[in-house]
Amino acid sequence: MVACQQMPVEPLKIKGIYGSPQPLWEKGHRLSDLGINAIFVHSGSISHDMISRARADGLRVFAEFATLNGKHYVEKNPEAWAINELGEQVKPASWFMGVCPTEPGFRLHRRNQLEELLLEYDLDGVWLDYLHWHAQFEEPDPILPETCFCEHCMKRFGRSPI
Ligand SMILES: [Zn+2]
Repeated sequence: MVACQQMPVEPLKIKGIYGSPQPLWEKGHRLSDLGINAIFVHSGSISHDMISRARADGLRVFAEFATLNGKHYVEKNPEAWAINELGEQVKPASWFMGVCPTEPGFRLHRRNQLEELLLEYDLDGVWLDYLHWHAQFEEPDPILPETCFCEHCMKRFGRSPI
C-alpha cells in the first residue's frame, strides 16, 4: 500500500488591488515597485492588452466574476427572479439584484460566461464574487430578505439529504 503524501507548498502571498490598474499605469507606476503582485479585475473589463501589461509587471491576474448578481438578467428573464417567503418577487436593491441560484436558464448563462472567460484568457484564478442570496448589506439600512422560495429551489430543498 502506498501512502499519499502532499508535498509541502509555500503559501502564496497576494498583495493585490481590485479594479483596473490603468490609472496607476497612466501615472507611470510599475505596480511591482509599489509592492503589488496581483490585480483583481471585473471579468468584463479584462483584455489581452491588460494581461500582457500585467505580466510585464510580474503580476498575477485574477478575474472577479459576479456569480449570483442577476442585475440586467432577471429584468429580461423574470423566471430567474428571487422569490421571498410569501411567494413574491423580491424588490431590487439599489445596485445589486440577486437571482434564483437554481433556475436552469440562469445557471447555464453564468456557466457559459465563465467558460468563455476561461477559454479567452490565461488567468491565475477567478474570484467568485456575489456568492450570496439577494441581499445588500453594504448600506446603512441593509436589505436582507429571505430567498429563494421559487419552485426550483423548493424542489431541490425537498430532495436534500439532511
Ligand atoms: Zn429559486
